[in-house]
Amino acid sequence: MKYKKLCECYFELEKTQKKLEMVDLLAKTLKDASNTEIGKIALLTIGKLYPDFVGIELMIAERMAIKSLALATGKNEKLVQKELEGIGDLGKMAHQMLEKKPQSTLLAFTQQHDEEEELEVLDIWDILDKIAKMSGEGSSDKKIRTLSGLISKVSPLEARYIIRLVVGQLRIGVASQLLLEALSVAKTGSRDFKGVLERAYNRSSDIGYVAETLYSEGIEYLKNIDVEIFKPIRVMLAQIVSSSEELLEKFGGKCSLEYKYDGLRVQIHKQGKNIKLYSRKPENITNQFPDVLRFIKEASKIDEFIIEGEIVAYDLRKQKILPFQEVSQRKRKHDIEQKAKEIPVRIYLFDVLYFDKKSKLDTDYLERRKLLSEIVKETDNIQFSHQMVANSTDEIEVFFNQALENSCEGVMGKNVAQGSVYQAGARGWNWVKFKADYALSDTFDLVILGADYGKGRRAGKFGTFLLGCFDQDESLYQTFTWVATGFTDEHLDEFYKLLKPLSRDKPKEVFSDIDCQYWFDPHIVIEITGAEITVSQMHTCSRGHLDKKTDGLALRFPRFTGKIVDDRPPDQATSNEEIRTIYLNQKDK
Ligand code: AMP
Repeated sequence: MKYKKLCECYFELEKTQKKLEMVDLLAKTLKDASNTEIGKIALLTIGKLYPDFVGIELMIAERMAIKSLALATGKNEKLVQKELEGIGDLGKMAHQMLEKKPQSTLLAFTQQHDEEEELEVLDIWDILDKIAKMSGEGSSDKKIRTLSGLISKVSPLEARYIIRLVVGQLRIGVASQLLLEALSVAKTGSRDFKGVLERAYNRSSDIGYVAETLYSEGIEYLKNIDVEIFKPIRVMLAQIVSSSEELLEKFGGKCSLEYKYDGLRVQIHKQGKNIKLYSRKPENITNQFPDVLRFIKEASKIDEFIIEGEIVAYDLRKQKILPFQEVSQRKRKHDIEQKAKEIPVRIYLFDVLYFDKKSKLDTDYLERRKLLSEIVKETDNIQFSHQMVANSTDEIEVFFNQALENSCEGVMGKNVAQGSVYQAGARGWNWVKFKADYALSDTFDLVILGADYGKGRRAGKFGTFLLGCFDQDESLYQTFTWVATGFTDEHLDEFYKLLKPLSRDKPKEVFSDIDCQYWFDPHIVIEITGAEITVSQMHTCSRGHLDKKTDGLALRFPRFTGKIVDDRPPDQATSNEEIRTIYLNQKDK
């Protein structure tokens, strides 16, 4: 497929907000893709070259993209920068600049380069892949030159999306769920097989692989795809309950309880000597935890497995779990061994996803949990999560208090009945979380949707941020609160740097009645505390689920805790449903 054809489809997608229309538009183009190109087309369409866990990122700094564009159009870099301030979207600007390219420059181009070529999607992917893999001394210059060479070869429309791809903001409103549906329509003519594709995606975290397998092997084959070592499984998430009564009731009077550790979730894959660690996103975090690799090597009883747990910072001398802020410092690219010494960790294991060469996702929870002791032995640094089976609210209360005394956030309740399978990629009811006091002291992981400029000391930076939660049913972000408190000057500098390149027209996936000076790609998740949840006519959180049609929920006295939650993708942010549960619980009290 010519890349231009794909870009024409992207351009049409940009014009509509309607999900069904988008699915059909995309499916129409995907239908014409060949078996060898569909995997890469799928990845490019969600703005990637590889799935996240491979760890090869295209991301080029805006500054470098501007340089490439200046070089390709023969314009002064400062001028390009200035023009960008007016337009705000580098891709749109590339499109406009190339359309307006003066004849003299065009001539220079054609002498320098071949005639405008119609490149295949695979050609584009190859060039971008080369750029992504350039490293070491002089690689920035090389990237700029290669990108500028590419831009000068393609049409203005293609440049629009190439530039957006390299700066990490494709802005066509296609997320993985929409793409899976479009693939189903493209290949089978029906939306009905989206579930099959979703299942395969949840088991592999690789939409390119799912698309390729669908095209080359067909839907029946895809139905039987299962877990493989070194393909991270999309993590299972928990629903929320707000009392021990509700917890017990959800599970029909009997459930398993585990401490809820406040650390970093890790999925550990082992095959022989090869061990890899994946975060919740999932990203490959193996290099950041050489100590964890050693602990797993020491503790393993068998060769092949996939298990899950939580990494926490741990003071071995005091035998105490340390707060999240400690372990979060272990997420770094430099001084890794040094930090490993300074901040030792312990892993609390809680699940088994692959054992004896078979997926265990469809095995009931207690059976999975029992397998842990066949896989690893407990050591100082590897422990099984603290667990018991409870039949009464009294038992839950005692266990809950113990969890808090032991520096945990609360407890996880887990279904022990038949059918208590591992729901990959879902926030299902087989797991629930029950934390301290959901009404007042709990924190929310919210997505930064927009911002207004600050005044006084905050002039020239963003001063107030519009935050939202995620609505899983609609795949939309809803607004929940503005926040301006809790930020140090350093935070504001950091947020300005992080957010400015993400600024754009209001994204389709944001449901808001509020207007802001700046909208961003919903990307950055931060932790917020608040005093109370109130009904609001301004915010859209949970609208349609409350007493009055126009009611939404808002957070009073919000405050940034200082934590950027960078291991949580925005669609795993606090959900509107969780906020509603907390609100109803607060109202009951
Ligand atoms: P939350 O992040 O508040 O939605 O809670 C779910 C998270 O709790 C999971 O993603 C894990 O990282 C973490 N967690 C801590 N302890 C456990 C446990 N015993 N079982 C499952 N998840 C746990």
